[in-house]
Amino acid sequence: MFDVAIIGGGVCGCSLLYELSRYRVNAVLLEKENDVGVATTKANSAIVHAGYDPEPGTAMARYNVEGNRIIEQLCHDLDILYKKIGSFVLGFSPEDRAMVEKLYQRGIENGVPGLRIVEKEELHQMEPSLADEALFALYAPSAAVVNPWELASAQAEAAVDGGAKVMLDTEVKGIKKTAEGFTIETSQGQVKARFVVNAAGTHSDRIAEMVGDHSFRIVPNRGEYFLLDTTQGKLVQHVIFQCPTKVGKGVLVSPTVHGNLIVGPNAEDTQADDVTTTAEGLQKVREAALKSVPSINFRDSIRNFAGIRAVATKDDFIVGPSESCDGFFHIAGIKSPGLSSAPAIARDVVRMLESAGLALGENPKFTGQRKVLRFKYLDAKGRGEAIRQNPLYGTIVCRCETVTEGEIVDALHRSLAPRSVDGIKRRCTPGMGRCQGGFCGPRVQTIIARELGIPKEQVPLDRAGMKIILGRTKEHKEAGES
Ligand SMILES: Cc1cc2nc3c(=O)[nH]c(=O)nc-3n(C[C@H](O)[C@H](O)[C@H](O)COP(=O)(O)OP(=O)(O)OC[C@H]3O[C@@H](n4cnc5c(N)ncnc54)[C@H](O)[C@@H]3O)c2cc1C
Repeated sequence: MFDVAIIGGGVCGCSLLYELSRYRVNAVLLEKENDVGVATTKANSAIVHAGYDPEPGTAMARYNVEGNRIIEQLCHDLDILYKKIGSFVLGFSPEDRAMVEKLYQRGIENGVPGLRIVEKEELHQMEPSLADEALFALYAPSAAVVNPWELASAQAEAAVDGGAKVMLDTEVKGIKKTAEGFTIETSQGQVKARFVVNAAGTHSDRIAEMVGDHSFRIVPNRGEYFLLDTTQGKLVQHVIFQCPTKVGKGVLVSPTVHGNLIVGPNAEDTQADDVTTTAEGLQKVREAALKSVPSINFRDSIRNFAGIRAVATKDDFIVGPSESCDGFFHIAGIKSPGLSSAPAIARDVVRMLESAGLALGENPKFTGQRKVLRFKYLDAKGRGEAIRQNPLYGTIVCRCETVTEGEIVDALHRSLAPRSVDGIKRRCTPGMGRCQGGFCGPRVQTIIARELGIPKEQVPLDRAGMKIILGRTKEHKEAGES
C-alpha cells in the first residue's frame, strides 16, 4: 500500500515525486512508457517563462512566477542545463504597442521582476539580428531556457535516490475506490494507494473518468517546430516572441541550452498522441519566424518535431482535489506555461495532500543534490583529470556533440537508467547533433546492451517496440563452421 500514487511521468508527475521525496512518504510514479519525460515534456519550446502572459489571479499566473524562481535554484541543485537569457515580446505596430503595454501591466500585477519596455535603438543594440520592422519590445530578464526532459528525469532520479519508486511500462487501465484508498489496475498488475494524483497530460481526462469525474475534457492542440544546427544557435541571444494571440504565445525564435536554435510553434487542434509534422504547418512557422529574424537559415534545420498541448475545457490549470472522488487529485490541463510552473504546482499539491491527512515527516535520505560530468564543457585540464579518473571519458562516441563513452555508462548506472538509444540521447546528448545519431546510434546501442547485459536486438530506438534491429541481412558463420 503506497501513501501516494502519481499517474504520469511528465514534468508535473516527476516534480511532485521529487517534492514528496523530501518527506517520509511512500510514493510511486506510474508511467506507461519506458522512460519519464517522453510526452509533452520532451516536445515544447523549453522556455521558463517570466510570467507576464497569464491573466492575473489565475493559477497559471501564480504557479508560473513562483515556478520561474524555483527552477533556477532546482537547476543549480540538480545540475540541469539552464540559462537565464531573458526574453523580448516584439512590437511591429501601434496595435502591438497596446498589447505590449497590457502584458507589462499584467506582469507587474503578477509580480514579475525587472520588466520594462525597450524602444527600437536599444532593442536592436541588444539583439542585432531582429527585423528592422521591430519597433519596441517588452523585455523580461527573468525568462530562461532549460533542458525540459532533464527537468523531469533529474527530479525523478533524485526522488528515487531518496527512496521513491518509479514504475515504467506501467499503463493505468482502471481505478477502483476502496475503503483504504484506491486499487489501480495497471498493465503490470494492481497497485494500491491511499491518495492518487492524476498527472497524465493529454490523457488526464480519461484518467479522471476512471473515478467518475467528468468535470473537464482535454482538447489536444499541436505545435510544430524546426530545430536548427548550432551554426544558427548564436543568431539571437534572447528568447524572441511576437505578440500573443487567442491561440497561444505565437512563434518564437530562441537559443536552446544545447546551443541550437529553436523556431516554433504553431497551434492546430489534433488527437492526443498525434505528433506528426505537416508541410503546411511548418511553412506557417517559417514565415512567422522570418518576420522577427529575417536571416534564419532554414537549410541548417536538423530536425522537425511536434508537441501536444493539454488544453482543458476549463480555462486555467486544474490543480487540486477532484470534486467527485475523495482522495483523488488532479494536475491536469497543464498547457503552457506548464513546464515553468510544474515545480510550484508540485509544492502546492504536497500542501493539499498534507491538508487531506498525509503525514510529512522529514526524509533523512533526501539530498536534493546531483552532479553530472559533461565532458564537452570541461577545459583541457578538466578533461585530462576526467580521463585519468575513468579512461572511458577518453573515448568519444558522438563526434557532433563530443559525448564520451564514460558519460553514457554513467547515465546507464544512475538510479533511473534509460533503456533506449533516445533515452541515452535525452540523458547525455549523443545523437543530438548535425548527423542526428547516424554515426553514434549503433555504438550507443552496443554500449546499452553491454551495460544492461541484454542482446542488442532488445535495445529500442525509443518507446518499447521501436525496434532498430529486425533480423540478419546475411547469414553469419562462426569460425570453423562450413
Ligand atoms: C508546443 C508546446 C510548447 C510549449 N512550450 C512551453 C514553454 O516554452 N514553456 C512552458 O512552461 N511550457 C510549455 N509548454 C507546456 C509544457 O510542455 C507542458 O505544460 C508540460 O510538459 C506538461 O507536463 P505534464 O507532466 O503535465 O504532461 P506530459 O509531459 O504529457 O506527461 C504526462 C505523462 O502521463 C503519461 N500517461 C498518460 N496516460 C497514462 C496512463 N494511462 N498510465 C500511465 N501513464 C500515463 C504519459 O505517457 C506522459 O508521460 C508547451 C507545450 C507545447 C505542446
